[in-house]
Amino acid sequence: ETGRLLFARESIFVKGVVAMSGLPPADRLEICFAGRSNVGKSSLINALTGTKGLARASNTPGRTQEINFFTQGPDLYLVDLPGYGYANAPLPVVEKWQRLLKQYLSGRQTLRRAFVLVDARHGVKPVDEEIMSLLDTSAVTFQCVLTKLDKIKAAERDKVLTQVRGALAKHTAAYPEIVLTSSEKGDGIATLRAIIAGLLQE
Ligand code: GDP
Repeated sequence: ETGRLLFARESIFVKGVVAMSGLPPADRLEICFAGRSNVGKSSLINALTGTKGLARASNTPGRTQEINFFTQGPDLYLVDLPGYGYANAPLPVVEKWQRLLKQYLSGRQTLRRAFVLVDARHGVKPVDEEIMSLLDTSAVTFQCVLTKLDKIKAAERDKVLTQVRGALAKHTAAYPEIVLTSSEKGDGIATLRAIIAGLLQE
């Protein structure tokens, strides 16, 4: 119910940030979304907020990668981190992005939780593990969200869940509950909304 109410409010794009100096004032709680490019992050944010086209996939390797801030009601920022794991991204781009990500994750007082999106077909990859380790050292609690659930069968689901649980067990900042979602079918969206609303009430 609280999740429904929170996300009934309009979500508004605030700004895209390329440097720490551009961050909006830390005047409310925020949560962030991370994941490999093409994991379904834009689709998930659009499904959560009920706003088509709010988050856009910016999948061109080497493009300026921004941290995008959205308001969700007056008390919460949703933060869309750039997708990672491009095979061909130029090294300077990767390094700049890693530096900004580190600064953001370790320096943002109001950041309450990170949601690390993992494609249900692929499970946790080494580059996801890298982000998880960064979240560990930054002491940012993170929760794993499996995406594109509609693309796998029940038997595969059990297999990927086992793999993901194994990966999470290695990370001190991991929150144990895994959220299963399909932006396409709407599975898990209400659950995720409720989890986010719950963070606001702690
Ligand atoms: P991003 O790069 O992480 O922002 O990924 P997008 O949200 O742009 O999604 C990448 C591709 O996966 C697009 O073709 C989406 O239509 C597709 N996709 C995203 N979520 C789902 C889902 O839940 N189910 C299915 N079947 N496809 C999805």
